[in-house]
Amino acid sequence: MSLGEKPTPQDIEVVSEQLGRPARDIVGIPARCVCGNPLVVVTNPRLEDGTPFPTLYYLTQPAATQAASRLEAEGKMAHYQERLAEDEEAQEAYRLAHESFLATRAQLGAIEEIDGISAGGMPTRVKCLHSLMAHSLSVGPGVNPVGDWALADTPWSKDVCSC
Ligand SMILES: [Zn+2]
Repeated sequence: MSLGEKPTPQDIEVVSEQLGRPARDIVGIPARCVCGNPLVVVTNPRLEDGTPFPTLYYLTQPAATQAASRLEAEGKMAHYQERLAEDEEAQEAYRLAHESFLATRAQLGAIEEIDGISAGGMPTRVKCLHSLMAHSLSVGPGVNPVGDWALADTPWSKDVCSC
């Protein structure tokens, strides 16, 4: 599954505050801060206005998004791309993470325009640490190797409230 609990009105309020805009099309909260606030939201792959939305897992807590941005600014995406190139086991895990992401999203309906397209650069590229960290936080360790690397490399932690 890993779509998370259905959002409460309170969740939607918190997420809107985190994003600085009204949160829309949120169907699940797959990861929470220790304080209970959402860390990641699941967005419907077909937005209410009809736009296809492949991202699925979206990092919302400002401290977490800043942590991802900092890793990207430090050049970690190129670093992980190289690390992936040298590690066949991680390559295979990353490909399986892509498959599992697509299978989870398919539970919310088949969206033709984004068929086979996941997020963050999966299955072979490293393009967005926000998406990959959000995926790892949602499914737990051992599924998305690159998201796991990013979470291990940042001082930010889901176990300490930084809301
Ligand atoms: Zn918190």
